Amino acid sequence: MAAHGEGSGAPVDSMVAQLEKHPISSILIIIAMQTEALPVVNKFQLVENPHSLFPEGVPWVHYHGTYKDIIINLVWPGKDLTLGVDSVGTVSASLVTYASIQALQPDLIINAGTAGGFKAKGAGIGDIFLASHVAFHDRRIPIPVFDLYGVGSRQTFPTPNLLKALNLKAGKLSTGDSLDMAPQDEASIAANDATVKDMEGAAVAYVAGLLKIPAIFVKAVTDIVDGAKPTAEEFLQNLASVTAALDGAVAQIVDFISGKCLSDL
Ligand code: SAH
Repeated sequence: MAAHGEGSGAPVDSMVAQLEKHPISSILIIIAMQTEALPVVNKFQLVENPHSLFPEGVPWVHYHGTYKDIIINLVWPGKDLTLGVDSVGTVSASLVTYASIQALQPDLIINAGTAGGFKAKGAGIGDIFLASHVAFHDRRIPIPVFDLYGVGSRQTFPTPNLLKALNLKAGKLSTGDSLDMAPQDEASIAANDATVKDMEGAAVAYVAGLLKIPAIFVKAVTDIVDGAKPTAEEFLQNLASVTAALDGAVAQIVDFISGKCLSDL
């Protein structure tokens, strides 16, 4: 049989199976906006790590602490160095996911945040979704196979017990770098069969997939995309109350995870 580990699936697979039998000991929560992150930081009494894991000068912020038997790391990409607004979107999300995994080697990633929801697919303001699949809706490459690469659809780490125990909604998540929705994006989102739309999820999933860390996506609906109100206005109106619901859900999820193995989720 294969003399070297690379290319022979069996040893790696059995290692993963082995790991899945151990209780989850370290999680990485990735949150794009400060308004979404700070209540979670406060709830778990996380503290900012003064010895940054990250290159000098980047705005990325790492908070950490423990809850029951779990080490909680929360990373927020911080404020844009030039403009001072939250570094939302796929570029910052990918970078912090990569750097955080390299530094922390978590057992599980939780990407939590707000999202737009489609009422035609059953979403309402304040609903909390656990994404079953993620994909991009603004990476159109109309060449065979590159088209699929652009969409980058992937299944998330399945957590049927978590979904049931916390009574969360399941739905597909579509990610793009715009808050609004151009007609071409709309068609792609429909093709992705998405119920919720955000600006980070599929990027976090891509990096987590590369580095083989299981990832789940918890998205709270701040605005109804196929409704009457302008997205930006509705988003800002609901941000505070929906963020409170999101933080409650993240706390429940961490509670549920405590003492369990990946395969129990
Ligand atoms: N105007 C906001 C900017 C936030 S951008 C502000 O002033 O603070 C929106 C953030 O919320 C992103 O992190 C994105 O993931 C999420 N989001 C909420 N509703 C969204 C929608 N309808 N479409 C895309 N992303 C949305």
